[in-house]
Amino acid sequence: MTPPPYLNDPKVYIDTDTFIDLVSKKTRCLICCEPLDSKVVNREHVLPKWILRKYDLYDKEVSLPHDYHGRRYGRHTIPCCKDCNSMLGRKLEQPVRRLMEGGHSKLLRHLDGDAQRLLFAWRSWIFLKFLIKDGAIPINPDHRVEAVMQDKNTDWATLHHIHCLARSPYTGAHIAPEVLGSIVILAIDDDRYREDFDFVTVHETQTIMIRLGDLAIIANLSDSGRSMDIMHRFVLPTRQERFTILQALEICADMSATTTRIKGKPVYSTRIEQATGRPSIHADLPVYEANPVDPGTRAAIFELVYREHLPHLKIAGSDMSALQAIKENRLTFLEHRISRAAGEIEE
Ligand SMILES: [Zn+2]
Repeated sequence: MTPPPYLNDPKVYIDTDTFIDLVSKKTRCLICCEPLDSKVVNREHVLPKWILRKYDLYDKEVSLPHDYHGRRYGRHTIPCCKDCNSMLGRKLEQPVRRLMEGGHSKLLRHLDGDAQRLLFAWRSWIFLKFLIKDGAIPINPDHRVEAVMQDKNTDWATLHHIHCLARSPYTGAHIAPEVLGSIVILAIDDDRYREDFDFVTVHETQTIMIRLGDLAIIANLSDSGRSMDIMHRFVLPTRQERFTILQALEICADMSATTTRIKGKPVYSTRIEQATGRPSIHADLPVYEANPVDPGTRAAIFELVYREHLPHLKIAGSDMSALQAIKENRLTFLEHRISRAAGEIEE
């Protein structure tokens, strides 16, 4: 592919061939995209070290949707050059840590436009690292660009966009407001769970949930906020409300299912602003319409999001299994908002 004429900065523009190399061969740094054999190489933890330390996760096992082999978080790394690793620490991890370490109320107090863009780039970086580490991108390097680009199962344009967001601390790209995806920030109060950390991604819909203590962030990376208009109203939080983990997961699953309903996805592009010479990431938003929900898709997403909890769940006052309730789209933990079959956890 020939680069569009406005993208003449090789630091900013990564062509499709290089991008596929990046995510398949892992011989280049994911941020600066230079060959690793020409750089001093570090291991970049898929989950940031400050989270691994704070929640004592180094020796705990991560389970991924496509790769069920237990792997320890501490060994869950991807190659990255030393320069980029240091840059990300300075520009991304340290400021995000300051925003998130104080929990839900502190984050809300400091969530201005810059903080939103910073967190958005950070979520994109974590999502991309998990996606690549999970081996979830079906790539056959022998067939290369044309064949792969026609693969309906791989949304290369969206992955490429998330890569642009993830490396925006390196390129200095400004993220335009219309690019920011849907986000729900919840206060968590759940004494049933001893763990203070939860992490869920739905690769196929670019949806991610991160919970640190009493703070849960549920977000989509590629819908330009459109899911918020069609998410079930009963799942959206009101001020001062506090949620359990199972309720937060339901909001995550509902957001993920909702993104599959959007007709005409946003089209993202990077351009160099003439006035400033800086790269800038924009979105063209098609006329907004939503398809009806597909029950099979919704059930599959709920099953994925709740997969670790299913063995411990039963439906109150019923012999129905939680899995069966999911398959019939009847499982909800937000029962105070709507009269549907209610799920309860069994200790
Ligand atoms: Zn690098």
